[in-house]
Amino acid sequence: MLTRALVLKVAEMPAFKNWVMRSRLTQGLVQRFIAGEDVETALAVASRLNSEGFLVALDYLGEDTQRLEDAQQATNQYIHLLERIAERRVNACISIKLTQLGLDLGCTVARDNLARVLEAARNLNNFVWVDMESSKHTQAILDVFCELYPRYPNSGTVLQSYLYRTPQDLERLLNLGARVRLVKGAYAEPRDVAYPDKRSVDRQFKVLMERLLERGNEPAIATHDTRLIQHAKRYAAQLGLDKSKYEFQLLYGVRRDLQKQLVAEGYRTLIYVPYGEQWYPYFSRRLAERPANLYFVLRNLLRR
Ligand SMILES: Cc1cc2nc3c(=O)[nH]c(=O)nc-3n(C[C@H](O)[C@H](O)[C@H](O)COP(=O)(O)OP(=O)(O)OC[C@H]3O[C@@H](n4cnc5c(N)ncnc54)[C@H](O)[C@@H]3O)c2cc1C
Repeated sequence: MLTRALVLKVAEMPAFKNWVMRSRLTQGLVQRFIAGEDVETALAVASRLNSEGFLVALDYLGEDTQRLEDAQQATNQYIHLLERIAERRVNACISIKLTQLGLDLGCTVARDNLARVLEAARNLNNFVWVDMESSKHTQAILDVFCELYPRYPNSGTVLQSYLYRTPQDLERLLNLGARVRLVKGAYAEPRDVAYPDKRSVDRQFKVLMERLLERGNEPAIATHDTRLIQHAKRYAAQLGLDKSKYEFQLLYGVRRDLQKQLVAEGYRTLIYVPYGEQWYPYFSRRLAERPANLYFVLRNLLRR
């Protein structure tokens, strides 16, 4: 059985990465998960999804920025994206990574850049999700988010059910009143910070999800796990929570049948739509979530 850590290690091998990025054989799979490389293509996808009844979060791909000018450039791109969303009247918010805005260069850089994006979003009446990244960044991401939230309540952040620490982090965000997107977690994490087995991750997801539905501000349940989605529907109904008060969130290209079904049943459903040239790290996490995706790539690699 291939573990997430192993798949992510293979994905980092330069030869594998170069081949995937260049090969026409993998382009179909890449296009399934990535909306395109430029902003206008992403907006066209968002617009189509809107017409099918979905809300959208746009992610301009990029992470682990190591140069100040790249962090500024990513910040400017997000502000430009917010302006284009408004001009085109697309119903889309944005989802961003603090390491893209310069977190590795210091919390102050990331905080100042995030504040610029949040300011632009507030002026344009839009909303910003701050994605969660690997556990070495969790504390810094939450600290920056919590510092800015009182000034910018047009923002929310993400918690991962695989981390042991998440129950405490959830209480912190519930006390703040911020919107929370609950996910299982997509990074390779050591055993001393995260549950290594799926069953424990799912169990903690269920407990956190119940708490979030009870106390949260418009909770976002971000999973394609049908058992957990069924439980969320039942639990929310039991609490008397109206369908407009919480949201399901799914990734572009994953379980499209389920996405359509949720909309048809009248659930508020958001699709997370990534775009941009720096798609490889995001794509490799999608490979790691489902061994069949990796086998598909490997089969084509061997057939070369
Ligand atoms: C809207 C959204 C935002 C996210 N934001 C973050 C974030 O900020 N930080 C973070 O760490 N993680 C994030 N994730 C990813 C998340 O942590 C999981 O890695 C991912 O959602 C897969 O887990 P699952 O909950 O769908 O459950 P799983 O048990 O992994 O999957 C359930 C079922 O979904 C389908 N499925 C899942 N993944 C794939 C795939 N890649 N390809 C094909 N089918 C698949 C399969 O049918 C599978 O059986 C986000 C996920 C979503 C939906």
